[in-house]
Amino acid sequence: MVLGRDGNSLRVLHDGVERIAVLRGKAKRDGDVAVAGDRVRLDPDTLTEDVVGIDGVETRHSLLERQIPGGRGTRAVAANVDQVAVVTAAAEPAPLLQLIDRLLVVAEATEVPACVVVNKIDRGDPQVIRDHLVAAEYPVIAVSARTGEGMDLLRQTLAGKESVLTGASGVGKSSLLNALEPGLGLRIGEVSARAGRGTHTTVAATLIPIAMGGFVVDTPGFSEVGVWANDPAHLDECFPEFRPAVGNCKFGDCTHRTEPGCAVRALVESGAAPISRYESYLAIYAELKEQPREWE
Ligand code: GDP
Ligand code: ZN
Repeated sequence: MVLGRDGNSLRVLHDGVERIAVLRGKAKRDGDVAVAGDRVRLDPDTLTEDVVGIDGVETRHSLLERQIPGGRGTRAVAANVDQVAVVTAAAEPAPLLQLIDRLLVVAEATEVPACVVVNKIDRGDPQVIRDHLVAAEYPVIAVSARTGEGMDLLRQTLAGKESVLTGASGVGKSSLLNALEPGLGLRIGEVSARAGRGTHTTVAATLIPIAMGGFVVDTPGFSEVGVWANDPAHLDECFPEFRPAVGNCKFGDCTHRTEPGCAVRALVESGAAPISRYESYLAIYAELKEQPREWE
């Protein structure tokens, strides 16, 4: 299991021991790429050496990729991610529904299951977020890193899986990780500080092993992953509660904004999908539409 990389050198976990490894032979010649979360085959003859050889990279079940600035294709960020946990605070800072939805859209576009963790329930009521997401059926886990409330459910949710923890700075991601893993000693604000760093072209994702089994992926710039290369025409499919209506609009290429006979708007008007989610759809649509893709 690859935990992280530093240039060409990879930190891998082998039999519970962390080793330094590099791609060799055919894997190197073929231009194979290994990132955090990849399972790699180690060359048994090199296990006694300081730097272990990697013969190959196993097939991935999921891959987070980022656009390379300048439209030069994509770069792998993390492999085999099982779930995305979007972290928000119930208060302090007030939840930004649109940011939560943007991160959920990234998870949908990457085809990775998502859940929402509402932290700081000692300071506010998570109900607003539950109401916002009930129709989309995302699990909502209400916790307080400070009081420990809800932390057992969070542990169960993360156990045995490789999870990306993402969300605005100040919502308590570092505090949650420290509460889960007292030995980690992350500085308050540390996760966000890394996540917000520069253009992210050199900062790679890192896996943090957790006691209940599994890993938390510390990935810089998750919000840039995947979706921003997507055509806004597919955005509707990234809102699970819209799906029953998608395809039933009067116009086949309906963007669900102002067109007559829009089944998605009808769904929202009927109350089956919250207006707050529809507002996020409109905002993200406008953003995707306005932002010319780099190669255009
Ligand atoms: P990050 O930027 O997402 O990593 O957030 P931090 O973990 O740095 O937390 C930001 C601030 O919120 C810090 O001052 C924490 O002490 C505080 N904080 C974190 N979790 C909780 C919580 O459950 N309740 C309260 N009241 N404050 C919290
Ligand atoms: Zn429509």
